[in-house]
Amino acid sequence: MIRPLVILPDPVLRKLSKPVETVDEDVRKLSSDMLETMYDAPGIGLAAIQIGIPLRMLVVDLAREDEPKSPAVFINPEILTRGDEPNVHEEGCLSIPDYYAEVERPAAITVSYVDLDGRKHEIEADGMMATVLQHEIDHLDGVLFIDHLSKLKRDMVVRKFKKLAREKDKAPTRMVG
Ligand code: ZN
Repeated sequence: MIRPLVILPDPVLRKLSKPVETVDEDVRKLSSDMLETMYDAPGIGLAAIQIGIPLRMLVVDLAREDEPKSPAVFINPEILTRGDEPNVHEEGCLSIPDYYAEVERPAAITVSYVDLDGRKHEIEADGMMATVLQHEIDHLDGVLFIDHLSKLKRDMVVRKFKKLAREKDKAPTRMVG
């Protein structure tokens, strides 16, 4: 099921997500909804809080359009180590549509997480995977990629999205279907 995305400046995005206690059928169903929502957007990563669920869970798929799907689910992900070398990537966010900016983060990290069978793993990530995992794990702590930009840039983006939200509220409600 595709779920509605939570969009800036919704305060839900600033919530601290809680650890998943048991990987059960509900968690597996949630992960499949998250993947479906991410593919529909389309995006390459999605945290549960972006569909309003404050649980420490995220999904990632870095496969390009012409490649077979390669979904990955990370439950209770935790960054164990961060490399010294920085990397700059242009980032975007499904909760901040149509806004992109370069963000500097460590180029390589190690991450522990639990999979859909409840098994614990540890991986090393670099390149795009390192960026996406850091971006998504930030979401679990209520942090957005715009928080890594200058205050000037961040304030500009927040103002723009507040204005958009106000305009949407004022618009007359239309009957659909
Ligand atoms: Zn995001």
